[in-house]
Amino acid sequence: MTELVPPASGGAAKLVTQGLEMRFGLLVALEPTDITVAVGEFLTLLGPSGSGKSTLLQLVCGLLEPAGGTVLIDGKDQTGVPVYQRDIGLVFQHYALFPHLTVGENVAFPLKMRGIAGAEAKAKVKAALEMVHLGHLGHRFPRELSGGQQQRVALARCFVYEPSIILMDEPLGALDKKLRDEMQIEIKRLHRETGATIIYVTHDQEEALAMSDRICVMNHAKVEQIGTPHEIYSRPRTEFAANFIGLSNIFRGERSDGRLVTPHGAFTVPADAPGTGAAIVVRPEQLTLGEACENRVCGTVREVVYAGSETRIITRLDAGGAAGGEGADEFILRLLPGSPIPTLGERISASWNPDIATMVP
Ligand code: ADP
Ligand code: MG
Repeated sequence: MTELVPPASGGAAKLVTQGLEMRFGLLVALEPTDITVAVGEFLTLLGPSGSGKSTLLQLVCGLLEPAGGTVLIDGKDQTGVPVYQRDIGLVFQHYALFPHLTVGENVAFPLKMRGIAGAEAKAKVKAALEMVHLGHLGHRFPRELSGGQQQRVALARCFVYEPSIILMDEPLGALDKKLRDEMQIEIKRLHRETGATIIYVTHDQEEALAMSDRICVMNHAKVEQIGTPHEIYSRPRTEFAANFIGLSNIFRGERSDGRLVTPHGAFTVPADAPGTGAAIVVRPEQLTLGEACENRVCGTVREVVYAGSETRIITRLDAGGAAGGEGADEFILRLLPGSPIPTLGERISASWNPDIATMVP
């Protein structure tokens, strides 16, 4: 079983929410939520659209007033503290730059709001623009920049006044894939260089895995699981988490004498499985072609997907008992380059070592 890794700095809590909740009329947008974010940590809220990620961010910064609960920053209750007096920076998907101000003036704006002007402001703006590699474009207007450059200006405008917490709501959502990958690295660098505590929202699991110290998986207005990317990938605690992060084979059944009886076979459960789990989660790379391991499934190859560094084999499981209930009717396994590749329509079996799988309720 994986050790529980403490938050990045292992140090003091920067931000704590206690029973923080939100409703819009009858709709529950956030169930009472307790999270703790350490100083300097990069925490990502990951979940599908409508799961309450933006609501949680807006409650943290004070754009929304909670139906209940509290937000503590550095141990101090923020109830009633307006957005601009919280030590928080915001970056959204839509950069919201002022079109009539130059890049430099946009970045200087939050300083002006805080009474910082003259040489000090100038130096800070210069440093912030250099930090995002836009030192040479301070005189341009936002419309004269590409989408990626505009988003960099938005980052500079946020980092320039050195807030100790930065909230980012899908900041790269409007960029194409290549630019997004580049900006992910930029944001990670800015995080390292500034030591800011960042809460980042995305619905993109790869982005979450790549960027975060910890991921907070959200679904239906609540937190499903919080953990390091490795913990969440290797030990998902719910079927939702297993499906949302990475690919999973999920076999559901009934427990009987240390086995899980499913329509596709009776499998030995992991030794560390809780007493009640009702489904086994096996990642595609945990399956071995052939019958080398104890638990095995058989089927007919339906699709062979070449992906460069790996090949995914999608196999239709042999029909299980008709009364077998719902669950997978196919499985995916991942082969590394050099492995013999089965052909379409071939009958194959795959197996896994019981102890590398995970059980979920
Ligand atoms: P996410 O950011 O994860 O996509 P949100 O936090 O924006 O989700 O929304 C959570 C839920 O609250 C959704 O069902 C959404 O429709 C609802 N919601 C969000 N903002 C409002 C609002 N201002 N009025 C009514 N319902 C809202
Ligand atoms: Mg949102």
